[in-house]
Amino acid sequence: MSSSETFVIVGASLAGAKAAQALRDQGFAGRIVLIGAEQHLPYERPPLSKGYLAGSAEREKVFVHPESWYAEHDIELCLNQSVSRLDRDARVVELADGTQFGYDKLLLSTGASPRALSVPGADAEGVHLLRTLDDSDTLRALLPTLSRLVVIGAGWIGLEVAAAAREAGVEVTVVESAELPLLRVLGPEVARVFADLHVQHGVDFRFNASLTEIRTSAGRASGVTLGDGTVIEADAVLVAVGVTPNSQLAEAAGLSVDNGILLDSSLCSSDWRIFAAGDVANAMNALYNKHIRVEHWANALNQPTTVAASMLGQRAHYDQLPYFFTDQYDLGMEYVGHVDPGGYDQVVFRGDVAAREFIAFWLKDNRVLAGMNVNVWDVTDDIKRLIRSETGIDAGRLADTGTPLSELVTVAG
Ligand SMILES: Cc1cc2nc3c(=O)[nH]c(=O)nc-3n(C[C@H](O)[C@H](O)[C@H](O)COP(=O)(O)OP(=O)(O)OC[C@H]3O[C@@H](n4cnc5c(N)ncnc54)[C@H](O)[C@@H]3O)c2cc1C
Repeated sequence: MSSSETFVIVGASLAGAKAAQALRDQGFAGRIVLIGAEQHLPYERPPLSKGYLAGSAEREKVFVHPESWYAEHDIELCLNQSVSRLDRDARVVELADGTQFGYDKLLLSTGASPRALSVPGADAEGVHLLRTLDDSDTLRALLPTLSRLVVIGAGWIGLEVAAAAREAGVEVTVVESAELPLLRVLGPEVARVFADLHVQHGVDFRFNASLTEIRTSAGRASGVTLGDGTVIEADAVLVAVGVTPNSQLAEAAGLSVDNGILLDSSLCSSDWRIFAAGDVANAMNALYNKHIRVEHWANALNQPTTVAASMLGQRAHYDQLPYFFTDQYDLGMEYVGHVDPGGYDQVVFRGDVAAREFIAFWLKDNRVLAGMNVNVWDVTDDIKRLIRSETGIDAGRLADTGTPLSELVTVAG
């Protein structure tokens, strides 16, 4: 491995910082340049809609590494700098001010950006998105001052902010185009658990609703109007309608892009010198034998180990099961596996759903595709083994809490 090589990483968040770490851990002695558009040290986003937003988690805890770590590991950290062009022939990336960095290998860990709305009023003051530490700081300062918040979108971030706002005593209305929260990701059986949770905590859901406008008063958001003419008043509006991958650089440079940067299972793009990881990566998953783009923390945490090995010329394949977690009120959960919308034929519950202490399994043809443990802990490895198991599962035994999960696993993963 040559110590005269330069590896450039564009995107200084979890995936970028972990990739820099993995490259050093795996012995790369060359130059590493980590370029990030944000002014902050690389940080983790999950606390931004949970403990940090609620004021219970300290700011220092969100950073991936302390500032000194980068100098100690000889990582050139260029913050507050956005790469505006990638020239694959010259093998350089260029900043907006014209500064160029040459590379031998390039990692794009540019993440994703929240979708904005295009209805009238969408850019008014008092309309918020939540992606960055700065967004979270703004909302954190705002929550204690609010009486009423409207959240557009009942996905994970919308629901987590709804929970934080309810706990701060704010009246919350969640507007959702589907008939339940999280319907596409969970299906109706488990989506109902989240609907009940929030209703019990006083959230006012408006399902099957379309948004016509964000109402304004003196230029500030004052509520929303729905498609059926309903007006909901609010002091602030949070738009949480999903994200799109930041693949513009890759696309303009002619890399294969389709719902993120297309990668093989070694996380290499259509250019052998360019790799990607994290939210922007639409990677072939060797386990599922198809491309999957995962917008979750564990993916941004784990892909860097594989991508670093690949950048260093080793044979490496990413085949980890997607994993994510959430905390809302007194519900903590972990989800592992992957199910396409409607891609299952049965949900098996194990435990007490009403008490919100259970595991849900999504099955197809008696095979476990995914599992979610709600307020039940230390079962993720067993669920992973069930998913990787090559034989069918007896749904009755799976539902029976008297049968240890480990007994149901016939092939270790
Ligand atoms: C509020 C919130 C809560 C979340 N909660 C959870 C959770 O509970 N569980 C879970 O599993 N996941 C959660 N996630 C998702 C998780 O945080 C993401 O999957 C993770 O941040 C992805 O990391 P990343 O490094 O790939 O991308 P990002 O975190 O998006 O970082 C990409 C970085 O690249 C920078 N960048 C982009 N383009 C350029 C450019 N041209 N030049 C320079 N820099 C550039 C961006 O500014 C950004 O800093 C949450 C996300 C948010 C926003």
